Amino acid sequence: MNSVYSYTKEELIKYFSTIGEKPFKADQLYDWLYKKRVTDFKLMNNLNKKVIAKLEEDMLIDNIKILKKDSGKDVCKYLFELFDGEKIEAVLMYHDYGISLCISTQVGCNMGCAFCESGRLKKRRNLLVNEMVLQVLEIEKDINARISHIVLMGIGEPFDNYDNVLNFIKVVNDSKGIDIGARHITISTCGIVPKIYEFTNEKLQVNLAISLHAPNDRLRNQIMPISKAYSLDELMESIKNYISVTNRRVTFEYIMLDNINDSKECALELCKLLRGMNCYVNLIPYNETENIGFKRSKNVKINEFYDILKKNSISVTVRREFGGLVSAACGQLRSHG
Ligand code: SAH
Repeated sequence: MNSVYSYTKEELIKYFSTIGEKPFKADQLYDWLYKKRVTDFKLMNNLNKKVIAKLEEDMLIDNIKILKKDSGKDVCKYLFELFDGEKIEAVLMYHDYGISLCISTQVGCNMGCAFCESGRLKKRRNLLVNEMVLQVLEIEKDINARISHIVLMGIGEPFDNYDNVLNFIKVVNDSKGIDIGARHITISTCGIVPKIYEFTNEKLQVNLAISLHAPNDRLRNQIMPISKAYSLDELMESIKNYISVTNRRVTFEYIMLDNINDSKECALELCKLLRGMNCYVNLIPYNETENIGFKRSKNVKINEFYDILKKNSISVTVRREFGGLVSAACGQLRSHG
């Protein structure tokens, strides 16, 4: 049986047509599930008995269990248990502009970035659409408030679970449902080039962030294995294409690793790489983790790097450090095997 939360609106319309029902039933069901948050088909009183019986036969209203919460200032990390016992994490952040949720897209991750905790457990499986939707629903229920922004920056590589991630976006974006605007959704990738082209052609208003972390192949090869599959040239080409087709600005994430990628030379090389592009750079002070040897760049180095980018007319910000104390920061999330 499929989870009811795995269906996009289009798929539900198709489903209803196969049982001889009109398309508007899909809107009604979305309204019960995502506006009224009803979790029992029997209570959906504008659906007739026959439809309810059929839904009960074909679909499951499932949930994922919150096992643990770790709260810090303006941040809460959730540990979930999935139907098969696998465990994933998601992070809720309170900003002045709203509440954002960082969700996971896979159990473990195969990208193997040297600095990242999430990939220490190899990918066990992709998350299903409903398992991503349920991270949103369960946390909204827990805090009794609506999430305004979603970032796909938890455990996993979203473009390594492309179809499910795209369907997840369709579900949460639907105006008759959870209704989170596409511009409030950010997808982050380590740079799976063919998927960047595919994503470009979806023509969505969703924000794209690229984990760059190094201004040349030599350095990128050392810390991000994906860079051996797709060179920096190929990556930049795909991003330039994205920008020209969609007319949207791209975010480059650049973690600041002490003595690895934080030199003046790196900053200048980065400026050269990004010159003239419609982009902005988010410098992320590295979050140290117990098991990995990298260190966070010194503040003077981060400031120097920032200044060089600024001077070269590159839009740049330093990411606010969130969640370090509860190990809820970028790259500190992990699957629990
Ligand atoms: N796989 C996707 C999304 C998940 S990671 C991607 O690579 O973009 C989200 C971001 O956190 C990425 O930019 C990742 O490189 C970064 N990150 C990983 N470990 C980190 C750490 N310890 N400190 C800071 N950022 C980290």
